[in-house]
Amino acid sequence: MSLFKKSEAISIDGPAGSGKSTVSRRVAEKLGFAYIDTGAMYRALTLKVMNEGISFDDEEKITELSHDLDLKLIPTTEGKCTIRVILDGKDVSEAIRELGVTRNVKHVARIASVRKNMVKLQRRMVSNLDGAVMEGRDIGTVVLPGAKYKFYVDASFDERVIRRLKELAAKGKVVTREEVAEDLKQRDHTDKTRKVGPLKKADDAIFVDTTDMTIDEVVDEVVGYMRNSLR
Ligand code: C5P
Repeated sequence: MSLFKKSEAISIDGPAGSGKSTVSRRVAEKLGFAYIDTGAMYRALTLKVMNEGISFDDEEKITELSHDLDLKLIPTTEGKCTIRVILDGKDVSEAIRELGVTRNVKHVARIASVRKNMVKLQRRMVSNLDGAVMEGRDIGTVVLPGAKYKFYVDASFDERVIRRLKELAAKGKVVTREEVAEDLKQRDHTDKTRKVGPLKKADDAIFVDTTDMTIDEVVDEVVGYMRNSLR
């Protein structure tokens, strides 16, 4: 039985390639908590905007879409997916990871009214669950500022580039190191300089530098920290 109250929420924020997704999923598994990937939510909305041929400048229409988003995140152990993402009844788990979506998320994620709707939806998800690990960029600062356990994971830029290259190679994608580095640099910049909900460590979040750590070590550190705080 888990030591932690099921009503508790855990926030894990950090940049792309920090190890945040794998760690969040593993911590959730270990504690028997649900896992919520908020990046997948912004990606799904971006895919919908692209599929419907809506201009990224049309903030009003994008806000409308974000308000009525028919989105489900279903846990899975199949293949390389950690969750299946169902948008309008269709499985878009692979489609939301495509490069086109990755490059365009920033246009959607910067719109204040979209973030407001997403935050509402994310809070509703947590309140309907019995214990959740939620990962993203603004979880500890905006979505769940009252979360009992907050973590911010990061790694050196070079290590994050290497991890991302390996991830893409495993999916059979051929990209150069320079392309990956440029993409990460751009994403860091837009995520950190966004006016609303920027990527930022919450003052009360625990910082974990994963550069020289294995996933198992990071998971042990996160769960170990939570255990110690109960003493
Ligand atoms: O986590 P992932 O890399 O899949 O997220 C994709 C993009 O979604 C991020 O680069 C960021 O721009 C956006 N995002 C966000 N707020 C979150 C989670 C993701 O703006 N809470």
